[in-house]
Amino acid sequence: MDTATNPSMLRSILEQRCPRCRLAGIFRASIFRGFPKMHQRCPVCDLKFEREPGYFLGAMYISYLLGVALIAIMAVLLWAITGWGLIKVTVCAIVLFLPLAPTLTLFARVLWIYLDQSVDPERLR
Ligand SMILES: [Zn+2]
Repeated sequence: MDTATNPSMLRSILEQRCPRCRLAGIFRASIFRGFPKMHQRCPVCDLKFEREPGYFLGAMYISYLLGVALIAIMAVLLWAITGWGLIKVTVCAIVLFLPLAPTLTLFARVLWIYLDQSVDPERLR
């Protein structure tokens, strides 16, 4: 497969493209515009995205780490802007984070698929 015309890995991750061919989307639409369903397999190279039952358990760890980091950043920004106490900025940061949680969960799946394919790639048949 010609990889010279394929987009970079960072761009492919942000655009939620298949990690192997980087041509087709993992989801049926962008995760930044709603809550689209995933393709079971890549429409171009036939890579199976959910390799086994419970495959996306690892994505939950990524989602958790990203969520905690995002909440911490928002809490620090809130604290810097308002000077409120720790509990108040933490609660406000969590409330501000909640609308982002579904998108972050889907994005963590993309990161998980890329991480898994870089460690244990499924080659073209
Ligand atoms: Zn593909």
